[in-house]
Amino acid sequence: MSNVAQNLKKVLADLPEGVRLVAVSKYHPLEVLREAYDAGQRIFGESHVQELRQKAELMPKDVEWHFIGHLQSNKVKYLAPFISLIHAVDTMKLLREINRQAERCERVIDVLLELHIAEEETKYGLTPDACRELLADGEWRDLHHVRIRGLMMMATYTDDQEQIRCEMKQAQDLFDELKQDYFADDDSFSERSWGMSHDYPIAIETGATLVRVGTSIFGEREY
Ligand SMILES: *Cc1c(COP(=O)(O)O)cnc(C)c1O
Repeated sequence: MSNVAQNLKKVLADLPEGVRLVAVSKYHPLEVLREAYDAGQRIFGESHVQELRQKAELMPKDVEWHFIGHLQSNKVKYLAPFISLIHAVDTMKLLREINRQAERCERVIDVLLELHIAEEETKYGLTPDACRELLADGEWRDLHHVRIRGLMMMATYTDDQEQIRCEMKQAQDLFDELKQDYFADDDSFSERSWGMSHDYPIAIETGATLVRVGTSIFGEREY
C-alpha cells in the first residue's frame, strides 16, 4: 500500500459515521491525488481556482470538488459548472455572484458560510453577529440557485486544545441557533466544516460533519 493510502486509512479510521473527509490536496501533484482516489477517496479540497480547474480536468469525473479557500467574485464563473461545495462564503456579494453563475449553468450550488471566531487577525469570515445579520436580512432567500448547507470555520492555530475546543463549540452553538431560527424545516442545512490535520479529533467531538485534512494524508506541502 502506498504511503498516501496508508495515511488515508488511518484518518478514515478516526472518523465516526456521519463525518466525511475532505482530502485537502492543494499544492500536491496529481500523482498523489490519484493514489488517494485509487484508495477510494472521492472528495478533494483545493484553495486556488486555477489549480483546482487543472486538476479537475485530469482527474476522474466522479470526484467531488470542494473549494475551501477565499474565493474572489470574479473567479466564481470558472468553478460554477462543476463545483460540489464552496466552503468559505463570507459576503452577500459573493453569494449573489455564485447564484448568478449557478443560474447560467442551470445548477444549484451548495455553499457554507465562513465564520470568523479564531483570535487570529484575518480579513475573511463572518463574525457570529455578522452571520446572524446576513441571514436576518433575508435576501439570501431570493437566491434560488444557491443553497446554504451550513457553516465552516478554522480554529486558532495553537497547541491549546481547550481554546480550539471552545472556538469549535461556539461554531457548533451558532449552527444550532441558526438551524432553529432559519432552517428548522430544511434538512439540507446540516453541514459543519471544521477540523484540519492538527485538530480534527476535537472537531469530531464538537459536531463536525466535514473535516478538511491535508498534511496528515499527503505530507507537508511544498509552496
Ligand atoms: C490547507 C487547508 C486545510 C488543510 O490543512 P492541513 O493542516 O494540511 O490538514 C484545511 N482547511 C483549509 C481552509 C485550508 O486552507
